[in-house]
Amino acid sequence: MLVKIKCPKCESEGSMSLVDDYYQGPYKCWKCRELFTITIDKNELKSCEPLSQEELERQQEIDALRNQFRRQ
Ligand SMILES: [Zn+2]
Repeated sequence: MLVKIKCPKCESEGSMSLVDDYYQGPYKCWKCRELFTITIDKNELKSCEPLSQEELERQQEIDALRNQFRRQ
């Protein structure tokens, strides 16, 4: 399923392929390289919040930790 996402900053339309009809996570604009946390529900964009690079890295660290715990 391909969902279209319009960047709030530069208005460029990007797309994202989803496995489910729900997604919450980071999105990076292909054009202006701005980061957002987006929520997609039933293949519709519900929210789009600005996300800083540090915040993204922190989230990825948390995910990495979670995966480590899962393996033990
Ligand atoms: Zn953009």
